[in-house]
Amino acid sequence: MGFNTELLHGTKTGDPVTGATLTPVYQSSAFFQPSAEQHEKLFHNKAAGYSYTRINNPTIAAFEERMTVLEKGVASVACASGMAAITNALLNIVGSGDEIITSTSLYGGTIDLYHDLEAFGITTIFADTNDLADLESKITDKTRVIFAETIGNPKLDVTDIPALAEIAKRHNLPLMIDNTVATAFLVRPLELGADIVINSTSKYINGNSSAISGVITDAGRFKWDLERYPGMKEYKKFAKFAFTAKLRNGLFRNMGACMAPQTAYYNLLGMETLGLRMERACDNAAQLAAYLETIPGISVNYPGLASSPWNEVAKRLLDGRFGAILTIRVGSKERAFAIMNALTIPQIVSNIGDTKTLIVHPESTLAAHSTEQEKVDAAVFDDMIRISVGIEDIEDLKQDFTAAIQNTAE
Ligand SMILES: *Cc1c(COP(=O)(O)O)cnc(C)c1O
Repeated sequence: MGFNTELLHGTKTGDPVTGATLTPVYQSSAFFQPSAEQHEKLFHNKAAGYSYTRINNPTIAAFEERMTVLEKGVASVACASGMAAITNALLNIVGSGDEIITSTSLYGGTIDLYHDLEAFGITTIFADTNDLADLESKITDKTRVIFAETIGNPKLDVTDIPALAEIAKRHNLPLMIDNTVATAFLVRPLELGADIVINSTSKYINGNSSAISGVITDAGRFKWDLERYPGMKEYKKFAKFAFTAKLRNGLFRNMGACMAPQTAYYNLLGMETLGLRMERACDNAAQLAAYLETIPGISVNYPGLASSPWNEVAKRLLDGRFGAILTIRVGSKERAFAIMNALTIPQIVSNIGDTKTLIVHPESTLAAHSTEQEKVDAAVFDDMIRISVGIEDIEDLKQDFTAAIQNTAE
């Protein structure tokens, strides 16, 4: 099945009882049981079913199932946000005294999270994924996971996932990939050797910016060594579901950052058009990038341009398109602000993946908590504007940018 057919028909949707074509919102905190015996079984993983929405819910389960199919995994856990998904996925396998190796080219919130984890005795070592030999040299006997983004936000570097997976494999470490910016439409990291994939579903999956959420999808193939991951001991018996079983029976259920059923419904609805939206938004971005590159005084960073250092790897790994985000540098922070204020179609929003074109000045906003060195490593500059291109008519976007740029000529 092709991408869109599988997305629409690859899992059960709707309600067989009433014939509803959409999965209903089970807006209920708890679920009654036919007997005390059944209730006991449920709490001992001996029966399938629902008891309490913090742990699971039919609407959320339908969304998780569709994400599992989309990302080619074995199981997914839906969370309250992308950050909750990253936190849950990491803390499921790392603890005090352990080390994480991560790409420097990350979403600002993820960099902040790594700093927060220091208080719990978890050390993060930042490495440049463009220098894999250097990254590999940073692995120690305390390393427990390697983390990167498919397309770094906002550096727009494309991680060579097969090469990174090769290193992870050599050291028996799981590779965790944040696929938010690319989405499964462009690449399925689990197919390229990653072990766990994260999506902030607040972005392209939802598609309309109607709700915050995130999801963890496991490939189910990593062999958890009990000396390194002692917490996996009880869950080994779940075989390829060990990672997910540990999450659901432990941290995920107890930290309580679950998805709301209404959010799962929005996501199920929004993601039906993921393929169509991505196609259009990526094509718009490619056209806008090529056009802006012809304007003197503007430099453009977009993985689909031959001028991008990541064009080769993007062509090799992504399915013929290059994402819907580009950044431009315009000479100064003042001019960046002037252009942003002069644009009439794009909205100034600290978000990506909407149907509408969104712009942001990352240096003064998203990277506000980063150190100067972290900004340099994440390619955040004070004259840079990030553009998350929407599905508008491209001629209108081009005209709007032309006017804003001309009106603010240096
Ligand atoms: C937005 C984003 C996150 C965080 O997701 P939230 O849903 O906002 O918590 C993580 N990673 C990337 C790449 C993002 O763009």
